[in-house]
Amino acid sequence: MSTSTRKCRYCKGPVVGRKGKIFCSVECKSIYHYRLRAATFDTAIPIDKILHRNRSILLEIMGKNKSQKKVDKIEMDRKKFNYSYFTHSFTNSKGKVYYYLYDFAWMAFSDQEVLIIRKRSPAKDKPAFPTP
Ligand SMILES: [Zn+2]
Repeated sequence: MSTSTRKCRYCKGPVVGRKGKIFCSVECKSIYHYRLRAATFDTAIPIDKILHRNRSILLEIMGKNKSQKKVDKIEMDRKKFNYSYFTHSFTNSKGKVYYYLYDFAWMAFSDQEVLIIRKRSPAKDKPAFPTP
């Protein structure tokens, strides 16, 4: 068994108690996590704005109910769509890459055309509450 004193991750003070404990107190743990979240929040805001804006552009082009639409790339360019930012990507069996923006995705259909698709979440297709 090690006799070395563990240091609190936040205040560097001694930590006593169970194995694996990394903070000296509930306060230190709470401040540490608060600051961690705040730092992430500040850094994420400008990128989140771009992602939200990109999704809004796709929503505007698609309208409320369409599930897919082919558009001229120039239309997306005109709306200042930022192709470099997306939430995740998927490559299909033919090697086509789908770039997601949350529940929407786009892929280069041709040099001038982009195919936009909407992925409906299964939860949204069901009623929120079961009807009697
Ligand atoms: Zn501490």
